[in-house]
Amino acid sequence: MRKALAAAEAMCAQRGERLTEIRRAAYAELLEAGQPLSAYELLQRLQSRLDKPLAPPTVYRPLEFLVQQGLAHRLESTHAFMACDHPADHHHQVLYLVCTDCGGAEEVRAPAVDGLIAQTASSHGFVLKRQVTEVQGRCGDCNEQTDKSGGDQGGGR
Ligand SMILES: [Zn+2]
Ligand SMILES: [Zn+2]
Repeated sequence: MRKALAAAEAMCAQRGERLTEIRRAAYAELLEAGQPLSAYELLQRLQSRLDKPLAPPTVYRPLEFLVQQGLAHRLESTHAFMACDHPADHHHQVLYLVCTDCGGAEEVRAPAVDGLIAQTASSHGFVLKRQVTEVQGRCGDCNEQTDKSGGDQGGGR
């Protein structure tokens, strides 16, 4: 995580932006959470981290900054924010897998999906400006747990 923070700092400096204390703290919390957080959840975590009450705008502005810089993503389907661990990479061919059981989300590369969307749009004379592809379902971890508990029940003879 220290590495990710240092990399974020370097990236911001390179762009002439500053990773201020609150921006840094917000990014650190998202990294630490390891799963998407709502703005409200982040606010609560920041309050206990910085040990002082914060007004909601205090969290929205740094979040906006993080999203602009690509350090975090805002999931359209759940309005939650997740840290990006590869902010310097291109994000054209990305698919977000959002788990509705645990609230976790994963970014995966999906070039074929983007190609298909771009092709379909252009065949309708539509010019694509912005695209976020998200799918909802159950993640591998949650599936495993369901399988296990299902197996336990079955094993009870
Ligand atoms: Zn990302
Ligand atoms: Zn899950």
